[in-house]
Amino acid sequence: MAESAFDRLQARLADVMDLRGAEFLLKWDQSTYMPPGGASARARQRALLSQIAHERLVDPEVGRLLEQAEREVADAPPDGFEAASVRIARRDFEREAAVPPAFTRAFQEHTAATYQAWTEARPADDVARVLPLLERSLDMSRTLAEFQGGAEHVADPLIARSDFGFTVAMLRPLFARLRETLVPLARRVRACEPPRDDFVRRSYPLEEQFAFAAARVAEFGYDMRRGRLDPTHHPFAIEFSIDDVRITTRGRHDYLVEALACTFHESGHGMYHQGLDPRLEATLLADGTSAGVHESQSRMWENRIGRSRAFWSYAFGPLRSAFPDQLADVDAEAFYRAMNVVRPGVIRTRADELTYDLHVIVRFELELELLEGTLAVADLSEAWHARSEEVVGVRADTDRDGVLQDVHWFSGPIGGAFQGYTLGNVLAAQFWDAAVGEHPEIPAEVARGRFETLTGWTRSRIHRHGRAVDPLALIHQVAGGPLDPGPYERYLREKYEDLYPSDG
Ligand SMILES: [Zn+2]
Repeated sequence: MAESAFDRLQARLADVMDLRGAEFLLKWDQSTYMPPGGASARARQRALLSQIAHERLVDPEVGRLLEQAEREVADAPPDGFEAASVRIARRDFEREAAVPPAFTRAFQEHTAATYQAWTEARPADDVARVLPLLERSLDMSRTLAEFQGGAEHVADPLIARSDFGFTVAMLRPLFARLRETLVPLARRVRACEPPRDDFVRRSYPLEEQFAFAAARVAEFGYDMRRGRLDPTHHPFAIEFSIDDVRITTRGRHDYLVEALACTFHESGHGMYHQGLDPRLEATLLADGTSAGVHESQSRMWENRIGRSRAFWSYAFGPLRSAFPDQLADVDAEAFYRAMNVVRPGVIRTRADELTYDLHVIVRFELELELLEGTLAVADLSEAWHARSEEVVGVRADTDRDGVLQDVHWFSGPIGGAFQGYTLGNVLAAQFWDAAVGEHPEIPAEVARGRFETLTGWTRSRIHRHGRAVDPLALIHQVAGGPLDPGPYERYLREKYEDLYPSDG
């Protein structure tokens, strides 16, 4: 029997995935062990691999094979591997082929220059230096969105790149509602006396922090035989194949919380990829279905587990064994409370669980206003400060801790980069309720340091599908209904009412 068009298509797409895997390996090395001198050659090598992967994907032969493969799988079950593979291949092919190669090159060059300028402007607190570049980024982001065509809102195609199926029309009411519920809750909690947490700022050798965190994520189910943990500056998870999924972390010797939160977070991303059905290896389906669903997995381990009373009732023992002197005068309950201290802060990545989304709301609102043209780039710095004060309740003294704090707008298009963080929090709560509804024993297991039921549930309901199930369909399948901020709001209200009682 002659090889089917489907098989020939898959073989070509496997090359695309392998090229991406190789580029990811260069990126991982660059962010962990590469000496600084390697930067310029590495940038060139990564750009070349990305370009070849892109060219392989948009090759006219892929377009022809796609048409034939679509006919071949027309009668296949729509949720099956073949139909999903062809559907996602069509989606990726159209999205990338819609952008002229000259624009892709110009945008890559512009982005590289903007990123470089940002790395210098941020420490110098020199926002004026990057504003003209940001102006061009905004123009190019609008152009990029227009290439996709037919969108209701200019940000929709940019959002769809990471959170397929979500639109401004769906997200704006979600963010407006969270603003209404979370701003007053955070304000009330901040007015309370915070619990004692001086002990997390004692001296904790980093090697031992990382060893403790690595032992915990191995218990969660992150497979060290198919992964590893290394220190970096900006933690991330990255995959070269389903059986080689690396995570990275960072920490401070005088602040115990950071390495724990970062490692638990990245293990959630890593377990998602390790949990993909092995059949998806080297196919376009071998990835998380969306940024928001990915983030639901990382935030679940970071917060729902890693900042929970149940988890620390178990994990505080091993933690005190690792740091007997530093934690001699502390118990599990005090440590749990210290992990959940709420303090006003201007930096998103250092925010506590309760105020994290307030930082995301600021960015989501501002980027929509930029794209809509109601906010000028020239006014962005002041708008950032004013909006932070209004929503987060704090105002940074500098642009370094204001508009320059996040890399996103300086390393890609403006639009679509932030909603996934909050979607992740909202979905983590919906998925948790579904998991515990089906397995009420999960919280008691967590308190005994047993995570198999939870990990197995996330693997079978979420991870194994990869991109074969679209995010909106997956949410329905897993949570039994549409996206709903209710469970997340309820969780935060109950948790912080317990930690910071209204009448306390
Ligand atoms: Zn994440």
